[in-house]
Amino acid sequence: MRTKIVAGNWKMNKTPAEGAALIAAIRKELGEGACPVEVVVCPPFTGLDAATKALAGSTIKLGAQNMSAEAPGAFTGEISVGMLQELGVGYVILGHSERRTLFGETDAMVNRKTKAALAAGLTPIVCVGETLAEREANKTDKVVTTQVRESLAGLGNDLRKVVVAYEPVWAIGTGKTASSAQAQEVHALIRRVLAALSDGQTALSIRIQYGGSMKPENAKELMSQPDIDGGLIGGAALKADSFVAIVRGGC
Ligand code: PEP
Repeated sequence: MRTKIVAGNWKMNKTPAEGAALIAAIRKELGEGACPVEVVVCPPFTGLDAATKALAGSTIKLGAQNMSAEAPGAFTGEISVGMLQELGVGYVILGHSERRTLFGETDAMVNRKTKAALAAGLTPIVCVGETLAEREANKTDKVVTTQVRESLAGLGNDLRKVVVAYEPVWAIGTGKTASSAQAQEVHALIRRVLAALSDGQTALSIRIQYGGSMKPENAKELMSQPDIDGGLIGGAALKADSFVAIVRGGC
């Protein structure tokens, strides 16, 4: 019913040439049309042009890791949605925990960016997730509920076009993965929050990815949970063999 979606977040890794080489290796390893999973690669801004060329003729989609909510103008160092579109970008990761903690992004900022992305026809991948301290203080449900409600407020019918990524901060880049039961529990909660924001049918149609040290060894089990519809992959997305093995876990 929901097409699984696996996206590679390359973070601040890969020059344009290195990115193009990684895409060529992913294409070779994956083959075309063999797996019904939607596959997205998200290089840094400087690698998008080379990535578009490397993806020509492929079903693999291109995403960015951030964007500005503003229209073009005096915003030094920022990138507008139109600039992304011209490079063939169809997806954008928003509100990643590194943006939230290192660059001060709030739910309100993520909400504005999400609206700008949707207005331009991009698919936002909106990240939410609790820190270790919040989990240990039994605040996971409250934190994630607030993030989902506020980051996705006021989207109307466009809510169905959003992809949500549940990424427990304590699992990102740490090698510690949430167990499939822990992840499923929060995914089910997110779907209930989405239903409250819209309706049950809409909530059932929205993809919710898991992210946080997903790897070939745990991808299949995580993605076979009823509310886990794919993965947002950091470290393991930087090598073709591990990324493609994760994609295959969702096939
Ligand atoms: C991420 O940063 O989105 C992520 C999930 O990273 P990793 O897979 O390395 O934990």
